[in-house]
Amino acid sequence: MSEVPILKETTRTTGREALRNNITAAMALAGAVRTTLGPLGQDKLLIDDEGRTMVTNDGVTVLESAKVEHPVARMLINASTTQDRIARDGTTSAVLLSAELLQNAWELVLQGVHPSAIARGYRQAEEACRQHFETLVIDATEHQMMAAATTSLSGKIHRAMQEHLAGLAIEAAKAVAEDRPDGILADPTRVKILTQTGGSMTDSSLVTGLVLAKKRVTDRMPKSLTSGKVALVDGGLERREMMSNVKLNVASTGVLESFRQQEKTMLLDQINHLVDLGVTLLACKEGIDDDVHAALTDAGIQAYRRVARSDLDLLARGTNATLNNDVKGLTASDLGVFISSRNERWNGVMHWIVETEEGGATFIAKGSTNETVGEVERCFADALGVACQLLEEPYLLAGGGATQIALARHLRRFAEGFAGREQLAIEAFADALEIIPRTLAQNAGLDPLDSLLQTVAKQSTHQGPDAHHIGLNVENKSPSSMVDDGIVEPLRITRQVLAGATEAALSVLRIDDVLWAKQDPSIPEMPDEEV
Ligand code: ADP
Ligand code: MG
Repeated sequence: MSEVPILKETTRTTGREALRNNITAAMALAGAVRTTLGPLGQDKLLIDDEGRTMVTNDGVTVLESAKVEHPVARMLINASTTQDRIARDGTTSAVLLSAELLQNAWELVLQGVHPSAIARGYRQAEEACRQHFETLVIDATEHQMMAAATTSLSGKIHRAMQEHLAGLAIEAAKAVAEDRPDGILADPTRVKILTQTGGSMTDSSLVTGLVLAKKRVTDRMPKSLTSGKVALVDGGLERREMMSNVKLNVASTGVLESFRQQEKTMLLDQINHLVDLGVTLLACKEGIDDDVHAALTDAGIQAYRRVARSDLDLLARGTNATLNNDVKGLTASDLGVFISSRNERWNGVMHWIVETEEGGATFIAKGSTNETVGEVERCFADALGVACQLLEEPYLLAGGGATQIALARHLRRFAEGFAGREQLAIEAFADALEIIPRTLAQNAGLDPLDSLLQTVAKQSTHQGPDAHHIGLNVENKSPSSMVDDGIVEPLRITRQVLAGATEAALSVLRIDDVLWAKQDPSIPEMPDEEV
């Protein structure tokens, strides 16, 4: 049989060897982000091909910028990206947990447990955790929401700023929350973020309505309007477009003049159509020709040109208008409504502020340099993600490893109901969960095992129903009630960490035959201290 050409340059590893290689890759990847976990996690300095640098302690940023070719490591990175997309947080935890699940699985494989038995046990364990969440959750009261939003910023920015941003994020989330028949929908992308360099980051603020750094087409148009109808045009009010398919044979200046006049009449027709519809506010994605400014002004219309598509979308959602690229094709049902639309000069720059029925808010990120503004912007986005999640699903879990320890204790009891190998796998899952408190302790300069044992002991000897609140507060370096200390996280994040990490680990366990390209897929580098 002739050799299949594509397989020529590859080696094939099967069974145990493949699994061992894959797990090594997963562990190496976890090693690259382990030191960033928690508020005392260290920052990483990332340098790209062009020598640009970035400092971050965000696991997913580190992973996404790493040049990793190992297929299994890629799978884990994808799991962390999914975590980021679904929960906006918990990315480092997801990678650490999946690597730990794999490491523990490997030890069972060495003892002769088949990967499929391990997979079965892991699935049972994840399901058991999911059910146990019910007894662990606490309600997200106003006070707890603030604590959760602040926790999401711990270690990223100084304390006073954490509270400032957390408060603004909750306010913003409420401004965009919509009551739907199937519950509340709080979409963080409905909050507009505007950046301004200059001033102090503490001046960052929230404005009701949508703010754009834009001025109206001419100063002669009304500076502010109260309640009216808005038209959003996905094109422009200009000639260029209409001419695109027209070939002109100009014989005399008179012909050209009459042609121009005809075009202008067409534009004026469009404006008349807007007037007939009762439009007072107009925003176009493209240009508005200079010689129709007067007609728009005379009609009392406040008009904006070259409005970014993303801003038009936000306007559409806020005003309930439909974007249309043909002005003449606009009907009454395409129009939206606004409460007010005004122009204000801030620090010498004209801004357009639109308030609508559907809420909407703009966060103004300030800072003395572009870097600080960027930092403020990212922190706000993180806190906003948490606030939105909590409005949609108002449940929290204790942080600082408390929940993982409580789940592990529950699983060890649960495992007793199973025979043989599955029991071992469930116990291995329980052990893996403890990677979170262990790593938090280690990054705080504590002994991971001692800290874990102390925290577990305190949970198991605690009298009363709140044992599962006890975790490791890395700021005062001892076990205490995370709920009292305000270290809490949305249920959705922790649940997704568990689901994503289990899923990733299971898919690695399923691969027992790997084809390696000859140019050895690179395994990510181990962090310094491990080399
Ligand atoms: P991730 O990318 O997984 O979100 P983070 O670096 O954001 O990683 O760390 C989150 C972890 O830090 C959570 O487990 C959270 O409970 C924990 N944490 C936050 N603040 C504290 C604190 N003061 N003490 C102990 N743990 C904390
Ligand atoms: Mg985080």
